[in-house]
Amino acid sequence: MRPGQFIPYYIYRYLRWKSGDRTPLTAVSKVTNKCGLKCDHCPWWKRDIKEASTEDWFRAFENAREMGVIHLILEGGEPTERDDIDDLISYGKDLGMLVMLITNGINDFGEHDPDCYWISLEGFGKTHDKNREKGVFDKIVENIKRNEDVKKIVGLTLNKCNVHQIEKVTSFFSPLTDGIWFNFMYPYKSSKDLALSLSEQEKVAKNIIELKKKKEYNIISSYSYLKAIGKKRRKEKCPSFLTLLIDTDLTLRQGCTVEQLEMCKCEVCNLGCYGELTEAMKLRFDSLKFLKISTGLEDRLLWLR
Ligand code: SF4
Ligand code: SF4
Repeated sequence: MRPGQFIPYYIYRYLRWKSGDRTPLTAVSKVTNKCGLKCDHCPWWKRDIKEASTEDWFRAFENAREMGVIHLILEGGEPTERDDIDDLISYGKDLGMLVMLITNGINDFGEHDPDCYWISLEGFGKTHDKNREKGVFDKIVENIKRNEDVKKIVGLTLNKCNVHQIEKVTSFFSPLTDGIWFNFMYPYKSSKDLALSLSEQEKVAKNIIELKKKKEYNIISSYSYLKAIGKKRRKEKCPSFLTLLIDTDLTLRQGCTVEQLEMCKCEVCNLGCYGELTEAMKLRFDSLKFLKISTGLEDRLLWLR
């Protein structure tokens, strides 16, 4: 084994994938269904699945690492609701993985130590609160300001309610965070009325590109992903094998998150993370840069295997 930086490492894995290897890169671990909030549209807190123990999660992380995973995402529900979250983070890091934690931002997240946080937003101010709970937006802003030195990315999932707030969110959070990225809501059966149509998504992506070109804001979504939204991308094959999903009860599935809930309709999907991976599989360097920033990597060395 020898050390390498992200892009050379990725290219090494890319060559393996091109020769038929199907080992995953990222493990999305749903460590809990619990959440301090009870958003109407959220399916996760409504599920009644027993949580796995700390030791069982350790074994699951070891297994993921054995399979080739280098990027561990802890999500929920709200992962900081687990008392052992610090142990889970440390264990993942000790195994040599980059650890990212996806949070709703209402708990004081700075006390934990992942490589990067992703804070999920559903809009600015009252729009966010309407989907979550009154006062939640202010709590997030308070926690972000309190944890100035912590690496954090804000992710806005675009839908009909917040699409008019793109510039507001971007200008407000750019100076407070390490970047903003955009995701387009998938039209799940439970939320399809909220999701933007494909033609709306295409138009919105073009607007984001114009905003990004101004270079005033820290938008980390890549041009490659944004430009691909629309007809062209929908014909492409999604490299969902790059993702290993570990459910709350440790059920394993290699593939896409949509499949955890319902049958996927790739022709209407512009999910941000899979979209960036699709571009990264074409070795688009701006998508690789997105992966690098969003994983909290910077100059950290990775181990080839
Ligand atoms: S904050 Fe996130 S995980 Fe929690 S209930 Fe709302 S959508 Fe679900
Ligand atoms: S639904 Fe989206 S994320 Fe899932 S396999 Fe299809 S394109 Fe990929």
